[in-house]
Amino acid sequence: MNIIKQVRHCRTLLDRSARLRFSVFSKLLVALFAVLFFGFCLQLLGISRQADEIDDKWIANTRLLGEVSDRLTELRLAQAYIVLANDSAATTHALQLAAQHRQAIRNAHEEFLVLDSSRTLTQSSAVFETVEQYLNEEQEWERAGGSLVAFSHRFTDSTDRLYKAADEAVDSLIDANAKAARFDTSAISRTSYRLLVVIVASGLLMAAASMWMRRKLETNVFAPLEGIAGALARLSAGEADARIPSVDRDDEIGSLAQAFQRFRQSAQALEEAYTATKLAEQVADRLARHDSLTGLANRRMLSSRIDNLMCAADTAKCATHFVYVIDLDRFKAVNDLHGHEGGDTVLCTVAARLRALVREEDVVARLGGDEFAVVARVEGTPAFDNAAQLATRIGEMIRAPIQIGHSEVEVGSSIGIALCGRDGHDAATLLRAADAAMYRAKSRRCGDFQFFEESMQEDLRCLAALELDVRNAVAQHAIEPHYQPLVDLRTNRTYGFEILARWTHPARGSVEPDTFIPVIERLGLATTFTLSMLRRACRDARLWPGRMTLALNLSPHQLADPLLPAQLLSVLSEESFEPSRLEIEITESALVGDLPTAKSIIDNFRRWGIRVSLDDFGTGYSSLHHLRELHFDKIKIDRSFIQSMLSDAESAKIVDAILCLSDGLGLTTLAEGIESAELQQALTQRGCAYGQGFLFGKAVRAEEVAGLLRPGQLQMSVSA
Ligand code: C2E
Ligand code: CA
Ligand code: CA
Repeated sequence: MNIIKQVRHCRTLLDRSARLRFSVFSKLLVALFAVLFFGFCLQLLGISRQADEIDDKWIANTRLLGEVSDRLTELRLAQAYIVLANDSAATTHALQLAAQHRQAIRNAHEEFLVLDSSRTLTQSSAVFETVEQYLNEEQEWERAGGSLVAFSHRFTDSTDRLYKAADEAVDSLIDANAKAARFDTSAISRTSYRLLVVIVASGLLMAAASMWMRRKLETNVFAPLEGIAGALARLSAGEADARIPSVDRDDEIGSLAQAFQRFRQSAQALEEAYTATKLAEQVADRLARHDSLTGLANRRMLSSRIDNLMCAADTAKCATHFVYVIDLDRFKAVNDLHGHEGGDTVLCTVAARLRALVREEDVVARLGGDEFAVVARVEGTPAFDNAAQLATRIGEMIRAPIQIGHSEVEVGSSIGIALCGRDGHDAATLLRAADAAMYRAKSRRCGDFQFFEESMQEDLRCLAALELDVRNAVAQHAIEPHYQPLVDLRTNRTYGFEILARWTHPARGSVEPDTFIPVIERLGLATTFTLSMLRRACRDARLWPGRMTLALNLSPHQLADPLLPAQLLSVLSEESFEPSRLEIEITESALVGDLPTAKSIIDNFRRWGIRVSLDDFGTGYSSLHHLRELHFDKIKIDRSFIQSMLSDAESAKIVDAILCLSDGLGLTTLAEGIESAELQQALTQRGCAYGQGFLFGKAVRAEEVAGLLRPGQLQMSVSA
C-alpha cells in the first residue's frame, strides 16, 4: 500500500517537472552505460586471461611434451650408443648422454607438474608413470652392464616395449594438450563473439535511447517552446486572440506558458486601460474645450482663440475682428414653462443658428447659462457699420420662433460688441468690454446691441481691480470660512453648520459673497476655492463637540465638472471627515445647462454618503421638474418666502405648498432666514423640521462655534 502510494507520488512529481523527467532518464541511461561498460571490460579481461593461459600453459606444455618426446628418442639412441660403444671412453660418453636425457625428461616432468598444477590433462600422471617405468628400466639396464651381449634381449624386448609405450603415451598427451588448447581458443572466440554482441547491442541501445530522448525533447520541450514563441509572435503582431499552447501542463513548460498567459492578460488589460485613458483624454480634452450641450467652443477655448488671434495678427489686421457677447432675454420664462428640455432646445437652436450665420473661420462659443459669444472678422468699410449689420442679423435670427414640441417660443437677445485692438489686446479684457456693453444694452430692455464705449472703461477698471484682489485673496487664503448654525426646530439643537465665505479686504472692507463668488467663478478658481474652504472647515470641525454636519455651497458651474465629487472625496479622506457628515448645497441656477452631468455628479455624491440639498428653493427656473429628475435629500426654502410668510398670504401659501410637496416626495425641509421666535413657531406648526437664521446665530468664526454650542448660550440666543 505504502509502495503504491510512493509510486503514485513519484509519478505526480515526474508529471510536474520536465527537468526531473529528463534528469531521471539521463541518470538511468548513464547507469545502463556504466553496467555495459563494466561487462565489456570484464569480457575483455576474460579474453586477455584466456589468451595468457594459452600462451603460458598450452604452448609451454607443448614445448615440454615435445622436449620429453625428443629426449626419449635421444635416450633410446644413447642406449644404442652404449650397446655399440667399442671402448670405455665411448661407453662413458654414451652413459653420460643417457643420464643427461633422463635428467632432462625428469626436469621436464617436474616443470609440467608445476605448469599443469590443476591437472587439466587427466591422463598426464599415467603417461609420466609409463615414461618413468621406461627410465627406470633403462637405468637398471645400464647398471647391469648395458652391453649388447649381456642385455641384448632386454634391450630389444623389455626396454623397447617400454620405450614404445612411453613414446606413444607422450604423443597421446601432446594430442590431448593440443585438443585442450583448441578448446580454450574456441572459448576465446566465443567470448569475443559475446563481446561483439554486447558492443553492437550497446550501440543499438544508445542509438535507440538518443532517438527516444530526441523525440521526447522534441514533443515535450522544443515543439511546445516553438508553439509558445509562435503564439507570442502572433500576439505581438496584434492577433489578440492568439492561443498560447501548453497552458494546461503541470511542469516547467506549463509554468512558462501560464506566465505568458498572465503576461498576455495583463498586457491586454494594460492596452484596454491605455485605450480607455486615451478615450478619456480625448473626451476630457473635448470637454475642456467644448460646451457639452451645444458642442460649441467654451469660454476657455474662445479665450485661447482670441489670444492666438491677437498674437498672430498685427493691430491693423486685427482691427476688423469684433467680439460679440450675446445674452438671451426671456430664457428663464421658457425654462419655467417648458422645463429643462425646452430650455436645452432653445440653447441648441440658437447655437446652430449662430454657427450657420458666421463664416467657418469665425468662432462661436457658449460662455455658460444663456450667454453666447461670437468672434467674427468683419469685411469692408466702414467696419462699424458692417459689424452693426451682423449684430442686427444675429438679433433677428435669435428672435425667429423656435419649435418646442407642439408649441413655438420666441426669445430675444442683448448683444455687447468689442473691437479687437481698440477695446483690448487680450481675451479677458475684450470679453469684459463686450460684457459691459451687453449689460448696457440689456439695461435698455429693448433687446438691442451696444458697442463698447469709453464711458464704460471706468466700470471695467473697477472690475479688473476687483478680479485682481479676488485672485490674490484666493491665493493667500484671505477669504475665510464662517459657520452659521443649522438647527432642529423642534428641539432647538444645532446639528450642523453652513460654511459661508467671508472676506474683509484691507481697503474695500467687508465684501459680500454675492460680489466675490461670481468673480471667483469667472476667474476659473471655483474648484480651488471650494476645496480649500472644505479642507479648512474639516480641520475647524475637529475642535467642535459631537459629530456636527457641515454644509458646503457649490457655485453654479461646478456642477458641470465631473471630477468634482472625486476631488471633494479625496479632501474628506485626507482630513478624515466622514462623507455622511457633509451636505452639498446646490442652487437651481446650477442645473441650467448640462442636466445629465449634474445628475451624475449628484448621484456620485449620494453614492458616497454625501447628502445634497436644493438651495434657495422657490427662486429658480423649474422647481418641480428638478425635484422629479434629481435625487435631493433636502430642500432649503428661500428666505424671501419665509420672511414674508407672516405678513403675506401668498408667501404663506407657497411655504405650505413646498412643505406639502417635499413631504410627498419624502424630502426634509429647512427654512432659511428665520429671524424671530414667532417665525420659528409658525414653521414648526406647519411641520418644517429644520431652520437657519439670525435667530439661532449669524455666521461666526471657527473659534466662536464652540461657545455657540454650549447649551446655555444656545438657549439664550434662541430665546432672545
Ligand atoms: P445662501 O447659501 O443662501 O446662504 C445663506 C445666506 O443668507 C447667507 O448670506 C447668510 O448670511 C444669509 N442669512 C442667513 N440667515 C439669515 C437671516 O436670518 N436673515 C438674513 N437677512 N440673512 C440670513 P451670505 O453669507 O451673504 O451668502 C450669500 C450667498 O453667497 C449664499 O447664499 C451662497 O449662495 C453664497 N456663498 C456664501 N459662501 C459661499 C461659499 O463658500 N461658496 C459658494 N459657492 N457660495 C457661497
Ligand atoms: Ca447655501
Ligand atoms: Ca440659501
